[in-house]
Amino acid sequence: MDRQSALAFARSDVSTLPLYAPDATPCAIDLSDNTNLWGAPPAALDAIRSAECASVSRYPALYSEPLRDLLLRHVGLGQDSACDVITGCGSDDVLDSAMRAFSVSGASLAYSTPTFSMIPVLARLTGLRPAPIPFAENFDIDAERLVDTHAEVTYVCTPNNPTATIASRTAVEYVVRNATGIVILDEAYAEFAPETFVDLLEENERLLITRTFSKAFGLAGLRVGFGVGSSEITRLVARARGPYKVNALAERAVHAALSSHVGGRDWVATHAALVIENRNRLVAELAQRGLTALPSFANFVLVPSPDALRVSRELATRGILVRVITGLPEVPTALGNAKGTALRIGVGPWDMMRELLTALDEAI
Ligand SMILES: *Cc1c(COP(=O)(O)O)cnc(C)c1O
Repeated sequence: MDRQSALAFARSDVSTLPLYAPDATPCAIDLSDNTNLWGAPPAALDAIRSAECASVSRYPALYSEPLRDLLLRHVGLGQDSACDVITGCGSDDVLDSAMRAFSVSGASLAYSTPTFSMIPVLARLTGLRPAPIPFAENFDIDAERLVDTHAEVTYVCTPNNPTATIASRTAVEYVVRNATGIVILDEAYAEFAPETFVDLLEENERLLITRTFSKAFGLAGLRVGFGVGSSEITRLVARARGPYKVNALAERAVHAALSSHVGGRDWVATHAALVIENRNRLVAELAQRGLTALPSFANFVLVPSPDALRVSRELATRGILVRVITGLPEVPTALGNAKGTALRIGVGPWDMMRELLTALDEAI
């Protein structure tokens, strides 16, 4: 058997790329992936249970039409808005498709680092040269340096994963107004953030804002995300994406979550409010233990610590999984001082947070 044969024909960007393999030690309490730790909206679960044969034996919608009006309303835009939406198999799919649509030969992707780990990966897979720019000391994006890259695609994540920090409106507006190419604004954690930048869509046709149903909406397993922007940009992303990417059950569940009050939107809003309450409480408890979290505007906190790896192992033996982030840049100083390692901890019901704190007391 010729073991080399397939490898010899593979793109090197692909053959050298490690498979995504976060630590998935089975733990009773999994705080590692920023999902909704209360579960999923009851209305979405009911919609899946009551699905009929026809909804799985036939193809789902080609693109995003069945969810369009609900999604526009969800982000605060009217049906008469000049904007349109593009859905995807998770917002990863929307990000991937958007990058592919604009990855002309020699193009680059500017982004603040550290950010969502999929970004440099998707850049490589779509043929964009990554152009990472450090954050400012206060964890705002360095708008001038991002713009000065003249990148064909600029990615801004706010609130940002893994730091949980936000970009200032001044900086975001500067990037959106002055970037050479298109701007992708990832608002995966919008439900926990003090503001959204959807209003900027009205003035800029080269802006795409992405959202997901994987985090506050508790539907990570269904894989649904979407982008909103001018109909020009969403149509380009749709072409790069291809048809039938959101499966019929996922579409049904999202439709129900967005159109129901009690078991849908209200359920999500109630739990997002609980996240913020428990997050602030958790940050205070961590501080009492000498652990300083970065200011968080998401459903997780980042605690830079040179001891992150050891502490996470101790937590895992006590049944609690958190994400260890390594290889963080030397600036801002809060990351450099921690030797580039940190714990990223998801925020959930207080019972879970109490168990985490008890385990931490034993671990540190
Ligand atoms: C989790 C996350 C996503 C969501 O990915 P899905 O593919 O929608 O599950 C997107 N962006 C960021 C920054 C995230 O943290």
